[in-house]
Amino acid sequence: MQNPKSRAVQPLFHDRQVAKAIYLRHMSAMKEVLNLGEMKFGNRESPAYKTYKKIVMDAFYNAMLDVLVSMEMAGILKKCPCGTTIRQGYQTCPGCNGAGYCNADAFDAAIAGFVPVEADVTPEEENDGENFNK
Ligand SMILES: [Zn+2]
Repeated sequence: MQNPKSRAVQPLFHDRQVAKAIYLRHMSAMKEVLNLGEMKFGNRESPAYKTYKKIVMDAFYNAMLDVLVSMEMAGILKKCPCGTTIRQGYQTCPGCNGAGYCNADAFDAAIAGFVPVEADVTPEEENDGENFNK
């Protein structure tokens, strides 16, 4: 197993769209979990795989929606003007790519002055909470 500390962080946030980053990374993780199920159950047509797929997809979509709706309620996100919803799959919309949410205008204004840090920061270093007290 790869050491998470040595793993390169994927560039998910270059356009600063929070919902899109959450959506794309979780869709990628869901695909990996579904591929594991295909290895276990043999093929995608078996009833066992179809049950597994439904449970996995429900878990990922419900988890993502919990985060996205909570962020909408906090004023960080708004429903994307493209009108898609999370279960309709990948979309070409540059604001959400299928998440169905994009940054709220006030949130975009609030983060406009944020300066990106170096890309080789490990997730542990990003999440140490040090910047929250400044
Ligand atoms: Zn959209």
